[in-house]
Amino acid sequence: MDIEIDLDKCQGYAQCVHEAPEIFKLNESGQAHTVAAGIANENEKYALAAVDLCPMQAISINT
Ligand code: SF4
Repeated sequence: MDIEIDLDKCQGYAQCVHEAPEIFKLNESGQAHTVAAGIANENEKYALAAVDLCPMQAISINT
């Protein structure tokens, strides 16, 4: 499971960071990035929740 963040869409609302701080962080520009390349199995549910919570639909997951 890999995550992509569309930086043309991301507005830095940080819902993803609050939902899954082990996966997402905001960079100095206020946009999200992933902390690690892949997602550990135990964190997949949080990644999926972040996809749903992102108001810009900026997060996509490739399984
Ligand atoms: S929730 Fe969406 S818009 Fe907000 S920081 Fe995360 S990816 Fe960006």
